[in-house]
Amino acid sequence: ATMPPLLSAMANAGRHGVLIKSAVVMERLGQVDRVALDKTGTLTEGTPRVTEIRPLPGSGLDQDALLVMAAGAEHPSEHPIARAVVDAARTRELTVPDTRDFSSAPGIGVTATVDGHTVAVGAPARLLSGTGSACAEAAAFAETLEGDGRTAVLVQRDGTPVGVLGIADRLRPDATAAVAALTALTGSAPMLLTGDNPRAAARVAEEVGISDVRASLLPRDKVTAVREETTTGRRVLVIGDGVNDAPALAAAHTGIAMGRAGSDLALETADAVIVRDELATVPAAVNLSRAARRLVA
Ligand code: ADP
Ligand code: MG
Repeated sequence: ATMPPLLSAMANAGRHGVLIKSAVVMERLGQVDRVALDKTGTLTEGTPRVTEIRPLPGSGLDQDALLVMAAGAEHPSEHPIARAVVDAARTRELTVPDTRDFSSAPGIGVTATVDGHTVAVGAPARLLSGTGSACAEAAAFAETLEGDGRTAVLVQRDGTPVGVLGIADRLRPDATAAVAALTALTGSAPMLLTGDNPRAAARVAEEVGISDVRASLLPRDKVTAVREETTTGRRVLVIGDGVNDAPALAAAHTGIAMGRAGSDLALETADAVIVRDELATVPAAVNLSRAARRLVA
């Protein structure tokens, strides 16, 4: 029996490693003419590692104590940075303490009660508001790390900065090729949308060949970036992995989530899922959609 073109394209996309959730999505995917990519976990592998542990001199903490405190707060989080912090503590054979009152703010960080202290872990630019010497010291540490392309993560105890962690992630091996293929297919320059700091964002963008970079974005800022394109008549393909990407995936013409390390919310919200986390499967799926549309028409 011959399958209808859209169904056979869906089956084909599935064989390439892209799970398309409906025939409507399969049909629409080929219309996209602008691409917006998330950085952490999408262009990068999303398995970052802690590369620096810097307690502030006045904190009274050594490296292990700072790491344990951060890991305690991060333990319940599914964010790649949280997993990196907990893994680093376990690698040093440190015991991660129990956590109470955990809450997370997508694009900002986490907070929890650890050993009787309120501990916050997250983006320095979002958490550092004070003017004290600890804030100035922490900001200087963060800036040095970000200058090296790291994601700097601030650790606060009861509202006071106590240290900074440096986090590094690897680019996906096929990221550059996928960006080039999507640029050619859509005839427009892709954008990078990230909650990470501008320096780390610029480093990754340069490596993969993206010149339109928007950094330090909250989840709603990613939506705004997508909507701005939509109002000019663009059909935006958003590719992301995190809870912080879910609103943008929903606002996109077509949203695609990274399947292996992607958050449950991103997987549910997206129109399609990249099963094996290979970005190069996306341009293949766009081509399948276009071919099927020609047969349908
Ligand atoms: P991206 O858009 O690149 O995927 P996110 O929006 O998930 O990044 O995170 C943006 C920034 O917020 C991170 O670079 C980090 O500084 C901070 N952040 C978010 N979640 C956490 C967390 N669980 N622990 C520490 N920092 C976090
Ligand atoms: Mg991400």
